[in-house]
This record gives sequence, structure tokens and C-alpha cells, in this order.
Amino acid sequence: MAKKHRFMMLEDMMQEDRGSDILSSIGIYGTKHFVKKPEHCDECGSGKIEALEVLGASTRPLFWECRICDKLWLIYTKLYTEVRLNKMRGTYSNPNDWGPDIDKQFN
Ligand SMILES: [Zn+2]
Repeated sequence: MAKKHRFMMLEDMMQEDRGSDILSSIGIYGTKHFVKKPEHCDECGSGKIEALEVLGASTRPLFWECRICDKLWLIYTKLYTEVRLNKMRGTYSNPNDWGPDIDKQFN
């Protein structure tokens, strides 16, 4: 039976030149999250979007991924996702960097 979604290692997703924090290093700069799968990629217009699970970070997918251009979107809030990823790496980001309630700012 085919897998329902893809799996990736965080280390394979991170590119240091993109940014210093964990989410920007994997190409996520905004704070918007999508509970439901985006119908189309806002980057390339493709409809080939799949859930992506980061191995070890969560038992459920944390991101949507465009299979054409590799763009990622958050499924959960930025804060939640950061906590999961940092927990997996054994480090915690400074809570002072998290800022005010990010959900309220973008909805
Ligand atoms: Zn795309």
C-alpha cells in the first residue's frame, strides 16, 4: 500500500544560507498556516501538493509540500511547528524570539 504522505529528515530540508532560524532555513518565512491543503501552489500554480512529515518531529505531517517546486507551507502554527522541530533537535529557541500571538496577526 502506498504511503499517504512523504517523509523527510529535517537535516535534508535545511539550507544554512536561507536563514538562521529553523523555519527560514527550510524555506518558510511567513507565519501563515494552512489547516487544509492548499489547492494550488502560489509559487508555480501546480495542484500537486502533498503532506510532508518530518521524521522524529511529529507523528503527523507538519508541512504541505509542492511536488513541483518544493515550496513548503505550515500546517500548524509557526510556534507549534518551531517547538516540534526544536524539541526534536534537543534545543529550544528562546521564547523571547517567538513574539506576540502570531495567529491573531495574520487572520
Ligand atoms: Zn509549486
